[in-house]
Amino acid sequence: LFSGPVDFLKSAPSLKFLPDPEAPEIAFAGRSNVGKSSLLNALTNRKGLARTSNTPGRTQELNFFDVGRPPEIRLVDMPGYGFAEAPKDLVKRWRFLVNDFLRGRAVLRRSFVLVDSRHGLKPVDLEIMEMLDDAAVNYQLVLTKGDKIKPTALAEVLKQTAEQSAKHPAAHPHLIATSSETGDGIAELRTAILEAAMS
Ligand code: GDP
Repeated sequence: LFSGPVDFLKSAPSLKFLPDPEAPEIAFAGRSNVGKSSLLNALTNRKGLARTSNTPGRTQELNFFDVGRPPEIRLVDMPGYGFAEAPKDLVKRWRFLVNDFLRGRAVLRRSFVLVDSRHGLKPVDLEIMEMLDDAAVNYQLVLTKGDKIKPTALAEVLKQTAEQSAKHPAAHPHLIATSSETGDGIAELRTAILEAAMS
């Protein structure tokens, strides 16, 4: 599926502009600079599909990408969080997104929450995870930039992050370690996306 057509569908600056629910949706969230755009590009084999930039202002939108024509799966690029943002603004904006989009979207099958392998879970990630737990939105953690640390260090972060994740009721028990640079974990992530979309 991911070797076929992938098309940018639209940006939704607010919930009024959401596309009609025509395919199972899979959302991607994470701190700014976590490697979300690079991961979306690696997943879909497209270099410039998701913009690898942190242009403030553009990151507030939900970006929808169709995989397959007609779409079999729709990928939703959520705004990055935590970059130059006051904690109370983050909470406000993400509580709104979680409650009004993620919780209310019947076609949403899973959200992937991206975590930088070098940093592990930060307080802001835990805050987002708690919101997702409260809203009973299924999510799965994905470690990014796995090539940036040694395999032993990666294994340790994976273990620690899985332990923390196990305390969160809406979190999927299995974590996926990826690198958009080397392609590690990309096939595994595609499989998880397909499984979630077909469930
Ligand atoms: P976003 O803000 O979450 O969309 O993050 P980007 O995809 O723009 O990535 C932020 C920075 O990390 C960029 O300089 C990327 O080149 C780099 N980056 C992203 N993924 C990887 C990866 O898997 N390995 C390495 N070495 N660098 C990465």
